[in-house]
Amino acid sequence: MKSHGCTLDCFGCCKLNVEVENNKIIKIEADKNHPYTKGIMCEKGKNHFKRLNDKDRLYYPLKRQGEKWISISFEEAIDIIANKLKYYKENYSSNVIMHYSESGSGSILKGIEDIFFNFYGGITRANGGTCWNAGIKAQKYDFGCNKSNFIDDVLYAKNIILWSKNPANSHIHLFNMVKKAKEKGSKVIVIDPIYTNTSSIADIHIKINPSTDAALAMAIAKVIIDDNLHDTKFIKDNVVGFEEYKNYLDTLDMSYLCTECGVDMNTVKDIAYLYAKEKYSTIYIG
Ligand code: SF4
Repeated sequence: MKSHGCTLDCFGCCKLNVEVENNKIIKIEADKNHPYTKGIMCEKGKNHFKRLNDKDRLYYPLKRQGEKWISISFEEAIDIIANKLKYYKENYSSNVIMHYSESGSGSILKGIEDIFFNFYGGITRANGGTCWNAGIKAQKYDFGCNKSNFIDDVLYAKNIILWSKNPANSHIHLFNMVKKAKEKGSKVIVIDPIYTNTSSIADIHIKINPSTDAALAMAIAKVIIDDNLHDTKFIKDNVVGFEEYKNYLDTLDMSYLCTECGVDMNTVKDIAYLYAKEKYSTIYIG
């Protein structure tokens, strides 16, 4: 039995146990003893084995020739890329090469590209991105850093708000923990315009109008501040621009916000009170 990390583009980074016989993989399963993976593998993970043995699996690089793709050797592919890199560096500068990367699989090999391009002479990199980087930037802006909780912490939340998130399909390890938390008595609130597999376990499903999340968030914040449910000490110690935010909320009409997001006033109040009155609530954003 060999131990591997899942190689797919997923933050799960599941630990998989791979059984090999006569140099051939005969079984892949999720590690039951791993604290995150807990023996659960998603559909994409289950397809690793099928993909390995698929008749259409690519074993060699493909090169475009007119309208067709032809199979070439790895040596030829490396030569093509190396010659291009040499050409641009000799005729212009290494900086005319632009390298863009996002998170992809979180394996150790992800760091190798930086070492490679450093040896090449330094290149141009994109600053930021639309996926992972945007999320990190937003968390740093809001909280000062982007540290997240361990997945098991969700068991301690009294209210779990899944806002535009459908972990039943996109994050099954979290979904498993949410179901366990619900069994222990946590309330599950799903905010999503459509009924999803996650909505099926929700205590409250708020069918918000598409693209009106900001209106609902501001309506909830307005109730919390107007009814003095906010933590003034925490705000005083940690929040920049609270007065400006509060003044802005004061200019907004509650019934306008409710109409905009398609959620009635009583439901907004219920959510605001559930969230603000109960110290241990969590929001997962999609
Ligand atoms: S959740 Fe699925 S895709 Fe993601 S790391 Fe685990 S097995 Fe791989």
